[in-house]
Amino acid sequence: MDLDVVEERPYRFRLERHGAMRVPGTVFASRDLLRDAGQSLRQVANVATLPGIVGASYAMPDIHWGYGFPIGGVAATDVAAGGVVSPGGVGFDISCGVRLLAADCDREALRPVLGAVMDDLGRAVPRGAGPGGVWRLDGTGELERVLRGGSRYAVERGYGVERDLLRCEDGGVVADADVDQVGPRARERGLGQVGSLGSGNHFLEVQAVTEVYDAHAAEAYGIAAGQVCVMIHCGSRGLGHQICSDHVRAMDRAMARYGIEVPDRQLACAPVDSPEGRAYAGAMAAAANYARANRQLLSDAARRVLRRRAGVRLDLVYDVSHNLAKAETYRVDGEPRRLCVHRKGATRAFPPGHPDLPGDLRDAGQPVLVPGTMGTASYVLAGVPGGDAFHSACHGAGRVMSRHQAARTVTGAALRARLEDAGIAVRPLSMRGLAEEAPEAYKDVSAVVAASEGAGLCRRVARLEPLGVVKG
Ligand code: 5GP
Ligand code: MN
Ligand code: MN
Repeated sequence: MDLDVVEERPYRFRLERHGAMRVPGTVFASRDLLRDAGQSLRQVANVATLPGIVGASYAMPDIHWGYGFPIGGVAATDVAAGGVVSPGGVGFDISCGVRLLAADCDREALRPVLGAVMDDLGRAVPRGAGPGGVWRLDGTGELERVLRGGSRYAVERGYGVERDLLRCEDGGVVADADVDQVGPRARERGLGQVGSLGSGNHFLEVQAVTEVYDAHAAEAYGIAAGQVCVMIHCGSRGLGHQICSDHVRAMDRAMARYGIEVPDRQLACAPVDSPEGRAYAGAMAAAANYARANRQLLSDAARRVLRRRAGVRLDLVYDVSHNLAKAETYRVDGEPRRLCVHRKGATRAFPPGHPDLPGDLRDAGQPVLVPGTMGTASYVLAGVPGGDAFHSACHGAGRVMSRHQAARTVTGAALRARLEDAGIAVRPLSMRGLAEEAPEAYKDVSAVVAASEGAGLCRRVARLEPLGVVKG
């Protein structure tokens, strides 16, 4: 059956309920971006069939095809009403996210040493698909401390300062990690990769603020026009991936027992309040802590390079994940309900005044960090009052081409030359990997951000452009 899409108002479309959908779909997009969404709208409709889903199955303007859920999907389930948690609603890269650091210098001051800084960053940042990380753990006992302690543990071990934790979502550590739910293969994969970028889409980028839209929020965040920043995008590496695989398999086996039917096996799920649901949630929290420690360690590596090469200090603006399921309380039909909010390729965007924000950010709202591409721009946004989709916003530009398609469209060498001509220093791991991440493989991030703002999900604070990129 064809999807019935209705434009409710600018930047907001409704997928009418049909078949087994329990709620409608809500897609935030311009008409152009809606066209780009293509078949992933089918996944929005599939998610709407999940037991306990409330409100709608939401999609952000950067929506594209993902495993079970679309990337850019948001869905909340009512825990007390048999609501489910689905690993596909979090994604394989559990707690993948973005962190932004602001330098105490502007782009002109950095220019003379940029090449040397990028060379050093290229050497200091372990990357690629295999093992290798800035941190050698002294065994599985220390891995467990990472899984329980996240960024806080990294800071305790000297990889950062106490203030960093104030600027991390959840203070840098998710409660309720259950390390017993992290299987042997996941541990094995996790042991050798703490403090590493991973592949392809992950990066460490030196950027400059080129535009400030909201001076008040920018000041609260500690960023200003012309300023140098460092953006880091990475997640939980092989450990998160393995946890997702392991728990999808377990839920796939358990679903029939709970009488759950889903239109796509990739939507394997279990009630939040079930042994399988709790097991996944505990393992997911452990992986989230791994991802946060990972970003903390890479920040430390970047800080060392910038201090040594340029005498520059980096302060954390914010660290936020865009692949996670969280217990949050919202009013549903006037009643406060404990919901399991899945955000997969979507960023939490708490409004000004939210009690979970640190004091110095409370007036401005939560920073939402949106990478674009290594050749165009990235954005800092802020959460807004009344933000929709359980206070969620976009997480990136979103792909329009598969990796394979991108690599056929451009060679890595040609792309590198083009970027260097534009003044962007590129330190790729592989030329093939670089080509797969070509700017033309992604949507126009400015259009995605405009649609997110137009839909009332967030507002723009600043635009950043790349000066140099270390690519996984
Ligand atoms: P994902 O988490 O879905 O893999 O990626 C998030 C977003 O990162 C993508 O949608 C894309 O817009 C952005 N991105 C990928 N590579 C780069 C890069 O090298 N630099 C910047 N600034 N953004 C990137
Ligand atoms: Mn990732
Ligand atoms: Mn990501």
